[in-house]
Amino acid sequence: MHSSDSTRSALIVGAGIAGLTTATALARRGWRVEVVEAGASGATAGWGLSLTGPSLRALDGLGLAGQCLAAGHGMSVITNVDVNGDTNLIELPRLIGDDRPAMAGIARPELHRILRTEALRLGTRIHYGLSVSALRQDGGRTRAELTDGTARAVDLLVGADGIRSGVRDLIGCVAPIRYHGQMVWRARVPRPGWADSIHTFAGESHQTGVVPISRSHAYVFLTENGVPSDVLPDAGLAARMADLLAPFTGRVAEVRPEVARSGSVIRRPVRTALVDASWSDGTTVVIGDAAHAPSPQMASGAALAIEDGLVLTQELDRYADIRAALGAFTDRRRERCSAVVRTSVAIARLEQERRHRDAYPLIDACHQRMAQPA
Ligand SMILES: Cc1cc2nc3c(=O)[nH]c(=O)nc-3n(C[C@H](O)[C@H](O)[C@H](O)COP(=O)(O)OP(=O)(O)OC[C@H]3O[C@@H](n4cnc5c(N)ncnc54)[C@H](O)[C@@H]3O)c2cc1C
Repeated sequence: MHSSDSTRSALIVGAGIAGLTTATALARRGWRVEVVEAGASGATAGWGLSLTGPSLRALDGLGLAGQCLAAGHGMSVITNVDVNGDTNLIELPRLIGDDRPAMAGIARPELHRILRTEALRLGTRIHYGLSVSALRQDGGRTRAELTDGTARAVDLLVGADGIRSGVRDLIGCVAPIRYHGQMVWRARVPRPGWADSIHTFAGESHQTGVVPISRSHAYVFLTENGVPSDVLPDAGLAARMADLLAPFTGRVAEVRPEVARSGSVIRRPVRTALVDASWSDGTTVVIGDAAHAPSPQMASGAALAIEDGLVLTQELDRYADIRAALGAFTDRRRERCSAVVRTSVAIARLEQERRHRDAYPLIDACHQRMAQPA
């Protein structure tokens, strides 16, 4: 990529939520954008995602909230059923207007399809099965050597390559990945008629729940405590998750046979990571999970990732000097993102100690904070 004209150029590493939304935000501002993604095209796993109010607000900033709501399932109430069967309803704040839902459930492949389509429509080039092997600062630009033997010299390089970020390593940023002794399970099931919004159910040991992701489907989630960070064979996951749900009665017992039959069950470790020092080196910056990965329980990783792209673009608009823009970007994002990661760590600890009730005020305070503009 050569900037022989005045168009600024960016290379984004990773075509996940952060990478694709940043590509769209930059392309909208006239940047020439290329994305390299290590995985194969369309390789996104099939489980669902909760897009909280701040996620929808950030997507709305890119003009994409409407499409996500149409492809997913909008909702504004969470029904929490405690261990005694008592019900507590939470009305969620509607951050994108009183006439639109507060949040949405969506299948990950659908979200990625929407994000990818928009980035491509704006002229972004996306290369799959490709990554960076070396980075060097060179006269105010970043020179990247790619794994296919080619190289790019760009005005900006964005590492949006997730919690195990290779870009983070290449620029010498340190972010220890911490495992918190929990596994998160998700199973895609036909949507039960009563699951028109999120329902959670607290058990003696685990918490579970149902999140609608379309008119026809939902996902069942479960957090398992006190387990080593091991990998189980895919073939046994549905039966194992159904076993973990066995102590639950009522509506969970009703969906349990569907979990046992589900062909789409995932089990992922609860891990967090946070870059403490600078998120950038020269004109290279890390964003999304590469800079700050919260645990899934906060359902806020997508919001932080999309906000990153918007805020980064705003700061690049404000400063002609890219290094100054990256410094301002990190200054604006650090406290908000760190707070979500810190809350995640605290929740994981409280859940491990079976103190779910003590976690609720922390989760609530963090969501209140996230409701404030980015
Ligand atoms: C089980 C689970 C459930 C979750 N549920 C929710 C939820 O409901 N709501 C929510 O908001 N958040 C949720 N999260 C968190 C959310 O998924 C992440 O915060 C979000 O995906 C971060 O986006 P990202 O683009 O930064 O990283 P990623 O989504 O990890 O994307 C990184 C991309 O970079 C690619 N990549 C990696 N290495 C390289 C490389 N070296 N070169 C090129 N490409 C590379 C990867 O293949 C991937 O496509 C959940 C997380 C987990 C694990």
